[in-house]
Amino acid sequence: MAKMRVIQIAEANGPLSLVERPVPEPRAGEVRIRVEACGVCHSDAFAVTGQYPGISYPLIPGHEVAGVIDALGAGVDEWKAGQRVGVGWHGGHCNRCAPCRRGDFISCVNHKIPGINMDGGYAEYMIAPVEGLASIPDDLKSLDAAPLLCAGITTFNALRNSGARGGDMVAILGIGGLGHLGVQFAAKLGFRTIAIARGKDKGPLAKQLGAHRYIDSEAEDPAEVLKGMGGARIILATVTNSPAMTRTIGGLGRDGRLLVVGASGEPIQVSPFQLIPGRRSVGGWPSGTATDSEDTLNFSALTGVRPMIETFPLEKAADAYERMMSGKARFRVVIQVAK
Ligand SMILES: [Zn+2]
Ligand SMILES: [Zn+2]
Repeated sequence: MAKMRVIQIAEANGPLSLVERPVPEPRAGEVRIRVEACGVCHSDAFAVTGQYPGISYPLIPGHEVAGVIDALGAGVDEWKAGQRVGVGWHGGHCNRCAPCRRGDFISCVNHKIPGINMDGGYAEYMIAPVEGLASIPDDLKSLDAAPLLCAGITTFNALRNSGARGGDMVAILGIGGLGHLGVQFAAKLGFRTIAIARGKDKGPLAKQLGAHRYIDSEAEDPAEVLKGMGGARIILATVTNSPAMTRTIGGLGRDGRLLVVGASGEPIQVSPFQLIPGRRSVGGWPSGTATDSEDTLNFSALTGVRPMIETFPLEKAADAYERMMSGKARFRVVIQVAK
């Protein structure tokens, strides 16, 4: 039986170990992907700690997977062997639960998540259900496509569904793994784009990514600056720092919305007086489905939005994970599985 190299976690809080496993066969409604690249996301920490519903071990992490279809399961005729595809957080849905019956597949109660409740992309091969597949356009490299399948779709899909229209003021809080993509998407979507981060050294980068104005939150009060500019329609919070989100709320304009995609357990503080006049609100957004991923990839190929990445080979996945967790990566870490 043919073997493949994979990175496996044997038990909660266990190490990321390189092991060999038999190459799996796709069942009906599934494809096998020969993985080329897999992004390392902060949510991979769930796979390590086991603190997410539905995790069982051993587990292969990874939900930013780009590769080539290598084998088709029974009944799969919409996809071809040799076709390049990606899989993100939305690895599949059941089509039967109450949200699925309403077409709200991202809210599926039996949601399949690569690297969480099914094996993910830190491997030479991966099995994926067809409803989790996004086609990758030819002019987008797999290394660039991988981070767009979680960090990219999360910011792009949140912004395009935010209600903001061309010319509206949109602020992106944070220029990290998510934020450096969020700034690019906001500028390319035609918003008046304001980037907010700590330190004046990030200013030139913010401008290079397309921001029209940079706010150094150590030197200026972001809420005051935004208010002085007329108030933001959307503040997209990509950081995982709830007090930093709280400090921006005063910068929302009429019908302004703090849109949260950075996940943290800490409360955001807001008073009714901040919300009622001007109909302001605070809300969140959960990435999107495979077709949203496909739209993200096509939009990025079309407009030149690209992640800034650091790459590691598969056997160095543990180092890649440590690098991402250190918070020092500029800006996404990607495991290059095959050339
Ligand atoms: Zn992710
Ligand atoms: Zn469902």
